[in-house]
Amino acid sequence: MRGRETIVICDACGRKIPRNKAVAVEKPINLGVSGDLGNVRLFEKRKVYYCISCAKHRGIFEMKKRMNRKEERYE
Ligand SMILES: [Zn+2]
Repeated sequence: MRGRETIVICDACGRKIPRNKAVAVEKPINLGVSGDLGNVRLFEKRKVYYCISCAKHRGIFEMKKRMNRKEERYE
């Protein structure tokens, strides 16, 4: 059997898409402020997926391109 693909859900439109066609983005999630810790803002990094059209719409490809360019400069 072949073609067993992992299905992920686009965070923007909720469409189900195969993982290899999705764009993964790490997104900081604001969990609010904890009074117990002396007003520390809590953030958590969560990996979200976007389908191609939502990624284009949100300029995620441009973001990735810019990041790649930066990496090239360090080489
Ligand atoms: Zn989408």
